[in-house]
Amino acid sequence: MSERPPHQAEPAPTGSEMHSSHQFMALPRLCYQPSAPQPVNQPQWVAFNQPLAAALGIPKDLWLSDAGAEVFGGNHVPTWAKPIATAYAGHQFGHFNPQLGDGRAVLLCELKHANGKLYDVQLKGSGVTPYSRNGDGRSPLGPVLREYIVSEFMHRIGIPTTRALAAVASGEAVYREQAEPGAVFTRVARSHLRVGSFQYIMVRGDFDALAALADFAISRHYPELAQLSDDDSSDCRSDETPGNRYLGLLDRVIEQQAQLISQWMSVGFIHGVMNTDNTSISGETIDYGPCAFMESYRASQVFSFIDKQGRYAYNQQPAIAHWNMARFAESLLPLIDNDKQAAIEFATELVNSMPQRIEAHWLRVMGRKLGIAEPGVGDKTLIEAFLALLEAHHIDFTLGFRLLSDEVSNHSLPHQVFLNPTETDAAGNQAFAHWRDRWQQRLQLEETTLKDIQARMNAVNPLRIPRNHVIQQVIDAAYEHGDLAPFNQLMAALENPFHEDCQFDDYTQPANPEQQVSRTFCGT
Ligand code: AMP
Ligand code: MG
Repeated sequence: MSERPPHQAEPAPTGSEMHSSHQFMALPRLCYQPSAPQPVNQPQWVAFNQPLAAALGIPKDLWLSDAGAEVFGGNHVPTWAKPIATAYAGHQFGHFNPQLGDGRAVLLCELKHANGKLYDVQLKGSGVTPYSRNGDGRSPLGPVLREYIVSEFMHRIGIPTTRALAAVASGEAVYREQAEPGAVFTRVARSHLRVGSFQYIMVRGDFDALAALADFAISRHYPELAQLSDDDSSDCRSDETPGNRYLGLLDRVIEQQAQLISQWMSVGFIHGVMNTDNTSISGETIDYGPCAFMESYRASQVFSFIDKQGRYAYNQQPAIAHWNMARFAESLLPLIDNDKQAAIEFATELVNSMPQRIEAHWLRVMGRKLGIAEPGVGDKTLIEAFLALLEAHHIDFTLGFRLLSDEVSNHSLPHQVFLNPTETDAAGNQAFAHWRDRWQQRLQLEETTLKDIQARMNAVNPLRIPRNHVIQQVIDAAYEHGDLAPFNQLMAALENPFHEDCQFDDYTQPANPEQQVSRTFCGT
């Protein structure tokens, strides 16, 4: 779950000094390579996240200053940074690539956040590294703006995610289909460990390095497991304990991923590229390449241009997360038990628990969207029936849930959003009215007032999301006129996405047919 509930201010800055560390560099050299960022021509500020900077203790003389643009553009490596590129492998669209790694990113250091936890600070788009293969190590401004907007929005609505600290234009062109302005993004994450980090070591057969990496992940994310034995799981396994600490690690990561995926589903988020190298061990959403939020609800919706088979469609996300956890389990097998068959058995049992775990989290988050505080198994059909209505009548996912709260005590005509203007026989409206009766009966079992139910619903159903066409308008304005005002306005509109605010009404509306963006691109 998120480290803090949505729409609360960032923890107050401690005013303390910045605490930087380089714990990743204590791992075996197989895991990383030193790699300095490559300087850019003319670093210029695009965006800076001051509350996050304060929480991380970033010195104020770097805040939106020329000196800061030099650091976050990659031109100057400060004493608190020791840049490295980390190694990883990954299953990309189901095919294993044993050699990926940070091809256009460097980890500068870890910093201690005001919440007491360590966070990675990474420059992305900072030039070639030993893992760049044929890439240029750079990033265009468009994907940088998209990641900045969407990752900060996810944080606002309480979904675990990497964060955006800074975006600096490079003053250089990046050549993709055409020349685009380049930028360097500073990403902050609980860590950048991915399933692919483990696959990289596993496939090279260095099991000591694998144990070191797993212990690093445990100490960083699941320290309560550190006291568990690293003996064979068969020696210490009981019904109460998850076995040895590596089996515990698998259990925790499955749990975090199960929570994360159900949260994505609850806001119509489609990640678009759920490769194992984009699957975080911390359970944060990472890599916002071709991601998008659905507008009109369609369970099989795909946005990414490269996802021709729909592998990462909205409704495939739970199954893909499950598949990714099976790949994670495989990469931990030598640590789980020396007896391979036993290791497979223990790991399989955990991996097989994932669909039920996702379903349980999904039921909880979706039920709450309907105003049900403690949804039970019996509520599943109610949720599914509502989704079926959204799909059959092409209703906007976000507004469908949000405006439903107006219906809590409404016994007359359904709200406008549920009226399909093309539907002359009003069958859809009847179907909705029927569902609404069922739902209102269910709400009578909630031990609270209708007003309270309404408030609860509005606290979990965002009114504003970063809609695709709006993100596109933001990028177009930045590209065509160097105009960042639309970016700043959108960031302001998403600051409190649950609160009604008439100055941001434009951001609540779905795209009209001419504005619709039905395809997204990685743009890397
Ligand atoms: P992504 O699609 O961002 O998850 O990246 C997949 C892999 O391709 C990672 O190893 C990246 O580091 C690498 N990569 C993506 N874009 C570039 C680039 N412009 N230059 C070098 N490597 C890249
Ligand atoms: Mg990636």
